[in-house]
Amino acid sequence: MSSKIFKTPQQWREQLTAEQFHVTREAGTERPFSGEHYFHQRRGRYHCICCDALLFSSSSKFDAGCGWPSFWEEAVPGSITRLRDSSHGMIRTEVRCAQCDAHLGHVFEDGPPPSGERYCINSVALHFVAEDEA
Ligand SMILES: [Zn+2]
Repeated sequence: MSSKIFKTPQQWREQLTAEQFHVTREAGTERPFSGEHYFHQRRGRYHCICCDALLFSSSSKFDAGCGWPSFWEEAVPGSITRLRDSSHGMIRTEVRCAQCDAHLGHVFEDGPPPSGERYCINSVALHFVAEDEA
């Protein structure tokens, strides 16, 4: 696995938009059904908006009806870190980019086969590279 990336909040602020910074560095959540990747059906790969690590592939994307892009598996094993999140009165599993610690969203255990998992991810945390452009 590639080495960790560390930047100060100021460095991230200079690189990201205000909304990208809020979601990825302050564990924010974009409004459901608002993200640019939610209705996205093109073939390609989804990378971390902060450090460009490959996180998800369109081949594991599905419509969970929840308002955020959903995937049933990560593209590269070990590319995503899981953390227990007890905020907002719920016990959830937060997922972050393993390389730069960007908050991505949460993973739930009600996804489709074969994984049975559902990664619920903020669009603004992702940068899409279409297959024909890669
Ligand atoms: Zn990252």
